[in-house]
Amino acid sequence: MSKLLIVGTVAFDQIETPFGKTDRILGGAATFIGLSASNFSIDAGIVSVVGGDFPLDYIKLLNDRNIDTTGVEIVPDGKTFFWSGKYHNDMNSRDTLITELNTLADFNPIVPEKYKDAPIVMLGNLHPSVQSAVLDQMTETPKLVVLDTMNFWMDVALEELKEVIKRIDVITINDEEARQLSGEYSLVNAAKKIHEMGPEYVVIKKGEHGALLVHDGKMFYAPALPLAEVYDPTGAGDTFAGGFSGYLAKTEDISFENMKNAVIYGSNLASFCVEKFGTERMLSLTKEEVTNRLHEFKILTQFEIELT
Ligand code: AMP
Repeated sequence: MSKLLIVGTVAFDQIETPFGKTDRILGGAATFIGLSASNFSIDAGIVSVVGGDFPLDYIKLLNDRNIDTTGVEIVPDGKTFFWSGKYHNDMNSRDTLITELNTLADFNPIVPEKYKDAPIVMLGNLHPSVQSAVLDQMTETPKLVVLDTMNFWMDVALEELKEVIKRIDVITINDEEARQLSGEYSLVNAAKKIHEMGPEYVVIKKGEHGALLVHDGKMFYAPALPLAEVYDPTGAGDTFAGGFSGYLAKTEDISFENMKNAVIYGSNLASFCVEKFGTERMLSLTKEEVTNRLHEFKILTQFEIELT
């Protein structure tokens, strides 16, 4: 079975949107990536850290979706990473209210032996030094390394982030963050600048406006499925990354053409994530729903114009 190594936060989130406010619920970049990638029947393993306050039921919930958590360290007297955010009325922008690193502050990741030769590595959002430390432990050079990050790390660990970006193949980043990282407003110019920092492929996520894949002067754009109701966008970016990397792990084809499909799979899965709070929708997702929505995606983007 194809292996996918996932790194990222496993967290408690507290979310406020115009539809309501949650208590501390299950969240974290690696959680959303794992749940999304689990739709591809691959061997996905997470490297992360949580505290003794993290319910074992949450770990079981990941295991029940065939996500391997042997690389998730539990620090008995530590506290789990906590993030709290509040969305504006348009749901496209949000304010981070609290980021408590807790056990993540001095986390030394240990990659389980079994995943040291994973062909696809998904470096989800967390400290760039941890992302680097994971790459250092790979015994086989991965076929593809995908990295996701956010403005928080650009603010507090820019040099470490630039170092790890030199070592990766694909970066997935949202539009605002692409502008911050590159200093360019135009997303085409931003992608060009980020490409010069290391990655061959740049994927810019534009929330409800879809995702743009840029490589070697070529571009591919996938819209987001227009949805009547968006309850909570938290984790949509990570769900996209999980769908993107999960599909590539499943197919082991890292050509530009296949990456276009990966962008579609990522967008498709992310469209479910936003329909309920936190991980709720991803936990109830069925294969049939995924396939049906892929059909909708196809219809949405297909047209026939005869070019002379
Ligand atoms: P997204 O909405 O895709 O940007 O991801 C939201 C998820 O990222 C939440 O579940 C948070 O727990 C997690 N998160 C928020 N801030 C950070 C951070 N600085 N590093 C890693 N994960 C984070």
